[in-house]
Amino acid sequence: MPRSGNQGVEMTLKNYINGVFVPAQSRAVRIYHNPADNSPLGEVAESAVEDVEAAIKAARKAFDEGPWPQTPPVERAAKLFQLASLIDSRAEELASMETLNNGKPLREARFDVADAAACFRYYAGLATQPSGETLEISDPNIVCQTVREPIGVCGQIIPWNYPLLMAAWKLAPGLAAGNCCILKPSELTPLSVSLLFELIDDVGFPPGVVQLVYGLGDPVGACLAASPLVDKIAFTGGGVTGRKIQMAAATNFKKITLELGGKSPNIIFADADPEVALEYALYGIFAGQGEVCSAGSRLLLDRRLGEDFLHRLVSACEKIVVGSGMDENTEMGPLISRGHQKKVLDYIHAGCSEGAELLCGGGIYNDKRSTGNFVQPTIFSNTKSDMRIVREEIFGPVLTVQYFDGEDEAVKIANDTIYGLAAGVFTSDESRAQRVIRRLRAGITWINTYHPTFNEAPWGGYKQSGIGRELGTYGYDAYTEVKQINTCIRPQPLGWFKALSKK
Ligand code: NAD
Repeated sequence: MPRSGNQGVEMTLKNYINGVFVPAQSRAVRIYHNPADNSPLGEVAESAVEDVEAAIKAARKAFDEGPWPQTPPVERAAKLFQLASLIDSRAEELASMETLNNGKPLREARFDVADAAACFRYYAGLATQPSGETLEISDPNIVCQTVREPIGVCGQIIPWNYPLLMAAWKLAPGLAAGNCCILKPSELTPLSVSLLFELIDDVGFPPGVVQLVYGLGDPVGACLAASPLVDKIAFTGGGVTGRKIQMAAATNFKKITLELGGKSPNIIFADADPEVALEYALYGIFAGQGEVCSAGSRLLLDRRLGEDFLHRLVSACEKIVVGSGMDENTEMGPLISRGHQKKVLDYIHAGCSEGAELLCGGGIYNDKRSTGNFVQPTIFSNTKSDMRIVREEIFGPVLTVQYFDGEDEAVKIANDTIYGLAAGVFTSDESRAQRVIRRLRAGITWINTYHPTFNEAPWGGYKQSGIGRELGTYGYDAYTEVKQINTCIRPQPLGWFKALSKK
């Protein structure tokens, strides 16, 4: 993939530190791959602590001495609007990069690119909205106000499943609110973010305001999380990493948001529209190859639906077109890596040995797809709540089916998880839908649909699915501190100290 802009024509993707594209100081590189056939796509800088420290130093200076935090919101917004337009103008290129490096079908990648541009536009708009309050307090001689101010230097660590969109979710609110941001993408998916930063360079932010450091979680992410010079960490990824980050961030009590995993229930009642429920049951788990934190990976079926619904589900699942995401006909792409493919296959074996019934899929392909990381769309029935495939996040195209009798049992099974990210309910009874949804312990819920996500609405999980919220006004507030300002209208001596009192 030839590179242009001030990165030059060479293949190595570089860090973006203090407004300049630079290699890792050690010159180390890592090769990144196409998951559809595991062919190498290019090289990316493999950063070390010294590279992260350079970025933190530049960000600190940009925040403490630079203009960005004081730049009028309307000017910050103008830069983000410009970035959104540049993303639109390179949309097809960005989508191809995403599909080549992540594997997801082009139609999904195109959607992500448009959504990323929309995210920058949404936060550009929000930056110029009224904020702060004047509070009615008990002292008529004081005007009490609140204002929102940027937090400072923000480390932003993102996973490989939505490389461009996750970058937008982090950078857009962070920059709109006046922070200085250091983005750390997944070491597996640097490609689309490299073009995003070329566009960021074209927009021209002050040096140190928005930076990119490639490399492994440890040392790059770990260094951001532990640094006393970083004020906030925004993380999306797995719970094991999230726990390490929370502990490291405690050293200087950084503000943190953690967007973690899920094992989300999708509940279908017998009175649901069967065509709608059937398609969303499949879409809920097989969109994005199941590598989606909010995937509807546990299908809960009303026993009154009988066997017919499940037969139709399995039959449709067997017809899902699996192949390279670059093929316009593809409906499901490969998993991100050989290692992740093995992890998903190990879960499928565990499901079989724990006594679940494999209804379809369960393996790999022995044709030309064997060079890629493909796993067949898989459905298990006869599953029980204590099985690993029901309890643990597989993060792949594996659906477990459980039956329930009545609302109470549906809610009990749905909530029987350490996670609480998302949930869906399908029914034609509106009052039942509201009743059930209110009882589910999850942060993102859908009635008669699954997966739609809006930049305007808060995203985040209950229980072990995370801390805090991204997107919407909640996501903006998470990049601000609140300051209280008290102004005395008619200042006069207090008369508190005798020595200062008039005789
Ligand atoms: P991961 O936790 O392995 O990695 C995520 C990021 O953290 C990567 O950039 C990685 O390099 C970095 N990292 C790894 N070790 C680190 C450390 N010690 N310190 C700091 N950073 C470190 O997750 P993954 O495998 O890339 O992504 C899959 C996980 O992400 C799943 O559990 C999924 O549910 C979750 N996810 C959650 C959401 C959400 O919004 N809740 C969205 C997407 C993915």
